[in-house]
Amino acid sequence: MAVVGVDFGTLASKIGVARHRGIDIIANEVSNRATPSLVAFGPKQRAIGEAAKTQETSNFKNTIGSLKRLAGRTLNDTDVQNVEKKFINAALVDVHGTVGVEVNYLGERQTFSSTQLVAMYLGRLRDTASAELKTSVSDIVIAVPGWFTDTQRRAIHDAASIAGLNVLRLINDTTAAALGYGITKSDLPEADSPRHVAFVDIGHSSLSVSIVAFSKGQLIVKSTAYDRDLGGRDIDFALVKHFAHQFKEKYKIDVLSNPKAIFRLTAATEKLKKVLSANAEAPLNVESIMNDVDAASKLTREELEELIADELSRISAPIQRAITDSGLTLEEIEAVELIGGSSRIPAVRNRIAACFPGKTLSTTLNQDEAVARGATFSCAMLSPVFRVRDFSISDISSYPIKVQWTPTLTDPEEDTELVVFNHGNPIPSTKILSFYRKEPFDIEAVYAEPAKLPGSINPWIAKFTAKEIPQVGQELASGDATQVKLKTRLNANGELSFESAYVETREEKEEAVAAPTPAPMEGVEGADGTAAAPAAPPKKKVKVTKHEVRFVVGNSALDKSLIETLKEQENSMWENDKLVKDTEDRKNALEEYIYDTRSKLDDRYAAFVQPSEKSALLTILSEQEDWLYTEEGEEATKSTYVARLDTCKVIGDPIQTRWREHEERPRAIAALRET
Ligand code: ATP
Ligand code: MG
Repeated sequence: MAVVGVDFGTLASKIGVARHRGIDIIANEVSNRATPSLVAFGPKQRAIGEAAKTQETSNFKNTIGSLKRLAGRTLNDTDVQNVEKKFINAALVDVHGTVGVEVNYLGERQTFSSTQLVAMYLGRLRDTASAELKTSVSDIVIAVPGWFTDTQRRAIHDAASIAGLNVLRLINDTTAAALGYGITKSDLPEADSPRHVAFVDIGHSSLSVSIVAFSKGQLIVKSTAYDRDLGGRDIDFALVKHFAHQFKEKYKIDVLSNPKAIFRLTAATEKLKKVLSANAEAPLNVESIMNDVDAASKLTREELEELIADELSRISAPIQRAITDSGLTLEEIEAVELIGGSSRIPAVRNRIAACFPGKTLSTTLNQDEAVARGATFSCAMLSPVFRVRDFSISDISSYPIKVQWTPTLTDPEEDTELVVFNHGNPIPSTKILSFYRKEPFDIEAVYAEPAKLPGSINPWIAKFTAKEIPQVGQELASGDATQVKLKTRLNANGELSFESAYVETREEKEEAVAAPTPAPMEGVEGADGTAAAPAAPPKKKVKVTKHEVRFVVGNSALDKSLIETLKEQENSMWENDKLVKDTEDRKNALEEYIYDTRSKLDDRYAAFVQPSEKSALLTILSEQEDWLYTEEGEEATKSTYVARLDTCKVIGDPIQTRWREHEERPRAIAALRET
C-alpha cells in the first residue's frame, strides 16, 4: 500500500511519497518535480500534465489549466466569469450545474465537467506515483486552499473517487506546510509556552497566511487569512497588459484581441518575471507573436515593481488580519516561513517583511515542496503502512456555519436558526444539537455569511431529513415532543457531516448486586457533552438507551451512481490513452527494428548470416518500411504492428542468436576455466 500526498497547485502539482527512510518528492516521466496542472484533448487521445504542456501552444483551445480554481464552481459564478475566464482558453460551458469545458476530442465536440477534469489530472498524478513506487496507489492526502468551501472540497473528493483514489484527508495548504515543519522539529516547547510561526504562501493564484502554535506533539492553527485572487498569474497578467499596450504603439498589433498571442505573451512574461527575481533587467522576446511580428522588449526590476504596484499593495491586508485574529503580539511570533513560487519575488518579500518589523523571513522549508511534504506526512499518519510519530493537528474553519429549520406548528415562536460552527471554529469538531419534534423534520446547514464566500458559491451545504421519530420515551406518554439529538461534525476535511441522530430513553433500575457503571454511549462526544448519567445511589442505576433516528442527508457531493458512471467513462478514456500510447510504442519498435537490423546485417551480423537469408530479411524489412509510410501503415492497430515485427523476427532472431552465442562463448569459457 502506497502513501501519497499531493500539493494540487494552480500552475503545477507536486507529489510526495513515504518510504521507510522518509518522505520524497518524486519526479515525473520527464524528471520534473512539479507536474503542470493541465489537461488537454486531441483527435486520438488526451494529454495530461507534461504531455499537455508540450502541446499547449499548438492546441491551446483544447488545453485546460486552472483546474482547482474551477472545482465546485458553476458556469455563472462571478469568479469564473470575471477572473478565471482571463486565464482559460477553452470554451467554458455548463455541465449539469457545474462549470465545464467543451473541447474537440476524438474528432467530436465533447463536454466535461470541472470535476471530471480534476479527476483526469489526479489520475495522472496517481500514475506518476504508481510508476515510482511500482505499486498501485489508492490512499492519498490532497492539499487544498484553506478558503475552499464545503462544495469545493466535495468536488475534489468526488474527482478523487472518479480517479479511483481514497482520500484519507483533504488538508489545508498552509496546515500541511505547518505539519511538515512541526513533525520534524525535536525541540518544540511544552504546550503552555508554544512557539508561534507565521506561514505565508503566495503561489500562482492565491495568497494564504496562517499563524500556528507549535508545542510538543501538536500544532494548533491560531488564525488564517487569505487573498483568494492574488498570485503569480496576476503579476503575469499585469505584465501582459503592459507589453500589449507597448506593442500597440511599437508594432501596431493588438495582442489582447488575439487569444493565441495573449497565451504566448503570458508564457514570455512569466519567464521574464522569474529572471527579474534574480537580475535587475531582463529581455522579452516573442517570435511571431501575431501578424508575423517578432516582438522584442525588455524590463527592469524597478519597472516591474511599478507595474505590479496594485498587486504588491494587497499583500499586507491578509497578513495583518491573520496577526490580529491570532491575538498575538508581533514579539510573540517567532518566525515567518515563506512558501510558494511567488515568494521569490524580492518586492513580494519586502512587503511581507514589512508586516513583521525586525524579523528576517525564513525559508527553512523548501518553498516549492513544503505543502506536498506535509500532505504526505499527513497520509503517513493516517495510513496503517508506516508508524509515524503522532502529531496532533487542530485546524480552524474559515466561514461560520449555521443550521436552519422551519418552526413547528406547536411552537411558532421558536428560533429557526443557530450558528453551530463559528469562524475560527476548531477542525475537526463535533457538536450535538437537540430538536424537540413529534413529526419527521428537515434541518439545513448553510454558510451563515454568504458574502464572505468565494465568487457566487451557493451557501447551501447540506440537508438532514429525519425519516421518522422513534415512538419511545416519557414524552410520548405526556404528548410532548421528543428530544432528537443530532450529531453534527466539521470533519478533518473541513466538510460538514451529520454523523448520527438518536433519541435517548432513561430507565432507573434497582440492582440487586452492584453492577458496573454504564459504558459511555458509543460515539457521543463534543461541546455539548454526553448526557452522562447522574451519579446514582448505590444499587440504583440509570440505563440510557439510544434509539436511532432514520435519516437521509443531501449535500453537494455527486450521487454514488453518477460517480460510478463517471468512473467507467474515465476508465475507458484512460484505456484508450493507454492503447494509443502502446500502439505508438509498437509502431516505433517496428521502425527501430527495421533500421537497427539493416545496419547490423552489414556489421556485427555479417559473419553469421547466409547470403540467401540476408536478402530474404532485407526484402521483408523493405516491405515493412514501405508499408509504414502508407496511409494504412500510419494508422494501424497495435496488433498489426506486433504481427509485422514478428514476421521480421522469424528470420532476424536466429541470426541475432548466432551472433550472441558467439559473443558469449569466450566469456562462458573463461567462466569455466575459473571454476
Ligand atoms: P496556488 O498555490 O496559487 O494554487 P501553485 O501552488 O501552483 O499555485 P506555486 O508553485 O507555489 O503555485 O508558484 C507558482 C508561481 O510562482 C508562478 O506564478 C510562477 O511564475 C511563480 N514563480 C516561480 N518561481 C519564481 C521566481 N523565481 N520569481 C518569480 N516568480 C516565480
Ligand atoms: Mg500552492
